[in-house]
Amino acid sequence: MYDLKKSEERTNAIQKREGKQNFRVYTVICGCTCLTCGGWHIIDESRPLPTKEEYEAILKNHNQTKKNKNA
Ligand SMILES: [Zn+2]
Repeated sequence: MYDLKKSEERTNAIQKREGKQNFRVYTVICGCTCLTCGGWHIIDESRPLPTKEEYEAILKNHNQTKKNKNA
């Protein structure tokens, strides 16, 4: 799993360099039998994670919906 660790570090570096911290990173475990191959990481650029502000807005909206249902 040494390569997987290296891949994670590399992916983190890419995220930092390219400002992609807001994207989810998937760990892909390779099922092959090669000893030097553990897997790799994928940055999912199709769906950015919500920013702190967006997250709070979503949460507020959600709580509001709950309140309306209970009324
Ligand atoms: Zn492999």
